[in-house]
Amino acid sequence: MATPLTATALLTALRAEGVAVVEHPGWRTHNRNAKGPWGPVNGVMIHHTVTSGTAATVALCSAGRSDLPGPLCHGVIAKDGTVHLVGNGRANHAGSGDSAVLAAVVAEHALPAPHRQDTDGNTRFYGFECENLGNGKDPWPEAQLTAIARVSAAICRAHGWGAASVIGHREWTNQKIDPAGFTMASLRSRVSGLLGRKTSGPAPLAPFPGADWFHRAPKSALVTAMGRRLVAEGCSAYAEGPGPQWTAADRASYAKWQRKLGYSGTDADGWPGATSWRALKVPAV
Ligand SMILES: [Zn+2]
Repeated sequence: MATPLTATALLTALRAEGVAVVEHPGWRTHNRNAKGPWGPVNGVMIHHTVTSGTAATVALCSAGRSDLPGPLCHGVIAKDGTVHLVGNGRANHAGSGDSAVLAAVVAEHALPAPHRQDTDGNTRFYGFECENLGNGKDPWPEAQLTAIARVSAAICRAHGWGAASVIGHREWTNQKIDPAGFTMASLRSRVSGLLGRKTSGPAPLAPFPGADWFHRAPKSALVTAMGRRLVAEGCSAYAEGPGPQWTAADRASYAKWQRKLGYSGTDADGWPGATSWRALKVPAV
């Protein structure tokens, strides 16, 4: 369970994962938040569009249809692997699904077969529509499969989730068949590989390296990992990055995190302490 990423945090996470992103006009404020809750979020849902042609697909997923207003997802993953962001917030992609499936996603356990339509998935899942005819014959180019895995991994990494938090629409409800043409097991295996671990379950977390370590202005992948988590928590003071070199921007961002936790004064001076570090859940590097 997690607070949804802000538009900027989502963009940062995708680019950090090596995803080629196009921002469709207006995507940052395009959502269905007036129609129902968005979040807490629990996972990423993958779909196929039953369309061809990227421009038409992106336009449709942004605007929606007469019977189903847009956005129809958060991003469209084109056949060339480019990801077109069309929505930020609640989107009409998941519809109703099975509460037992949601419970399994939350626990990151194996999924039961869906048979109920008792839970609103648009509240709980990021959604990505992948350009494909959905007939089981239309090919899935490697660039597109790579992008699907990277998008999924980026969001999982930002939230501290494992690959078991990625599901297909057809795993959510027995009313849908998408995505067709590849197995969700193969996708989750790729996501696991990107996340650097083979099995699902809570991500291994980096232990607190000690207060002195930060005062020595370290240059380390751990600083980058910390920065990405700060961005994901909406505590960014970064003009660029985050990167491996500890800078004043890292300290200012960390101070925002300390204030978010309720600290003030010298307890929110931007120098990491053991308790706030543990709460940040920085993945091991
Ligand atoms: Zn779908």
